[in-house]
Amino acid sequence: MRYSALTVLTQALKGHTGWMPAWRKASPAPAYDVIIIGGGGTGLATAYYLAKNFAVGRVAVLEKSWVGSGNIGRNTTIVRSNYLLPENVAFYELSLKLWEGLERDLNYNAMVSQRGVFNIYHSDAQRDAYARRGNAMRLHGVDAALLDREQLRREIPFLDYETARFPVLGALVQRRGGTVRHDAVAWGYARAADRLGVDIIENCEVTGFMFENGAVCGVETTRGTMKAGKVALCVAGASSVLAAKAGLRLPIETHVMQAFVTEGLKPLIDNVITFGAGHFYISQSDKGGLVFGGDIDGYNSYAQRGNLPVVEDVCEGGMALMPMIGRLRLLRSWGGVMDMSMDGSPIIDATPVGRLFLNAGWCYGGFKAVPGAGFCCAHLLATGAPHEAAAGYRLGRFAEGRVIDEKGVGAQPNLH
Ligand SMILES: Cc1cc2nc3c(=O)[nH]c(=O)nc-3n(C[C@H](O)[C@H](O)[C@H](O)COP(=O)(O)OP(=O)(O)OC[C@H]3O[C@@H](n4cnc5c(N)ncnc54)[C@H](O)[C@@H]3O)c2cc1C
Repeated sequence: MRYSALTVLTQALKGHTGWMPAWRKASPAPAYDVIIIGGGGTGLATAYYLAKNFAVGRVAVLEKSWVGSGNIGRNTTIVRSNYLLPENVAFYELSLKLWEGLERDLNYNAMVSQRGVFNIYHSDAQRDAYARRGNAMRLHGVDAALLDREQLRREIPFLDYETARFPVLGALVQRRGGTVRHDAVAWGYARAADRLGVDIIENCEVTGFMFENGAVCGVETTRGTMKAGKVALCVAGASSVLAAKAGLRLPIETHVMQAFVTEGLKPLIDNVITFGAGHFYISQSDKGGLVFGGDIDGYNSYAQRGNLPVVEDVCEGGMALMPMIGRLRLLRSWGGVMDMSMDGSPIIDATPVGRLFLNAGWCYGGFKAVPGAGFCCAHLLATGAPHEAAAGYRLGRFAEGRVIDEKGVGAQPNLH
């Protein structure tokens, strides 16, 4: 069923009785050419681009819970490509370009909103660092502009320009950045992949791997065993646990990260704003709630819930930037389990275990990466070679000391 204004109108006249399920409830087949573990954004996008761009035969996505139950449905929806290091700018720009054409490509309203991402700076040194990042972006053909205090005040008048503990001096802005409705992305990719013949199998947890001559040849699941030509791990916070079942130790730690939503307000914040003197970022959803977040909780956890000290820390960051939000009531908060890599950058690569591939290490920036991660992982699975935009995201870089440390903070997940 194609979605269009005409379909909506026709269904409205029919009392909405004719809508079809967005994707089939597929049952496991005994064998697939490619099995993708994890029905989050990266897994579904990988399946979609595999089916769309490469004729690889039968593809299945195995999801232990339901599509959208993981980080893809838990994030703060920010997309951008405002990176400094060449490996990251190229990859995230590819991803942003894919976002720009996504809704048409998937025939799905993912509410892509390029409302602009403003990184606020609070000191001369930080301004210089942001100018350098903006220049690096522009050299790669990515849009960036540096605003001074008065230019910023004209665009975002409600920040605390007068008494802030960390003075608001200006911002680096990427106007093509913005937000996308997170769970719609999962549903859109699931529907589009299903239409291309991908089996999306929910409530199917992978519990182990089958091997043949040292290479993976299938998976064991709660719904039986399945043979596979290739297997890709796209399981975010469960990456190291699952990789360990195949005998791999990954340079990834799992940490919890929280997000928060306030009661609904009239339109107030029409862009994405990040605080440069702490970790706080905010936007407003179409329902009116202010959606915001901060740092990871800072300890290893597999629980999709967070702790109170971080709630306090994030709210302090918000108050330091825009004291007006202090009068709002927090409506909801939740946590997601993040696959924090040791240099803060992702891994899209083959592993030392034959026929086992890895799409992980997305830290808390993997939502904006979803189209790019799927596109490049599909390329790797189909051709055996990394896509040029993800050529730096090799697993071996940690052993070789060629890390992609965007923030220059070393192997410290809580600082990435
Ligand atoms: C609070 C929060 C805010 C965030 N904000 C942003 C943001 O603003 N911008 C941004 O770019 N990124 C953000 N992120 C990060 C982003 O959401 C993640 O990096 C990205 O979603 C991870 O990829 P994914 O969608 O595939 O993960 P997930 O949706 O978590 O998918 C992994 C899936 O694997 C499944 N799985 C796990 N183990 C198994 C198994 N054994 N068998 C089968 N299935 C299994 C899980 O159930 C899950 O559905 C945020 C994350 C959180 C938690």
